[in-house]
Amino acid sequence: MTEQDHNKDEQQEIGFYEKLTKRTAEILEEGKKTFDESLKKAGEELNNAGEFSSEQAEKIKVWVRRDFALMGQHAEKARDSFKKAVEPHRVAAGAKSLFSSVLSSTAETLSDWAAKTEKNLEYKTGEVTSPGTLTCKMCEAEMHLKSNVRIPPCPKCHATLFRKSY
Ligand SMILES: [Zn+2]
Repeated sequence: MTEQDHNKDEQQEIGFYEKLTKRTAEILEEGKKTFDESLKKAGEELNNAGEFSSEQAEKIKVWVRRDFALMGQHAEKARDSFKKAVEPHRVAAGAKSLFSSVLSSTAETLSDWAAKTEKNLEYKTGEVTSPGTLTCKMCEAEMHLKSNVRIPPCPKCHATLFRKSY
């Protein structure tokens, strides 16, 4: 893969992550589906649009689920991250914030899953995530993410495992 292909792939994955996050939040807001049903439906819609292979979609769904679980746990602190991940267009359009309705319902449904194993909330280099602070598990160096990005290696020790906070 050339560097150019690699960058294109990276932009596509970030774009898909953003669409999936936003669409999942919109379906959740309608109040008729659980988090997992909403995520599944959003994934199917994007898959039907033919933008991604189902393999890639499954991988990105795991990342979206994890970020919702963590944002649900940290509700108020995660407000900025949520807005940047989900709502840039809505905020610009003056739409009502999805924050409270979406995160309170996600917090309930995903808290068991998040508590089950710390591994569920482990972040790795190469994965896409929303804004927040990543702390290196090896050297405790912090990275402050301002937008949806693909996670780079630790800038200090080049390790690839992180935990996230807001
Ligand atoms: Zn490090």
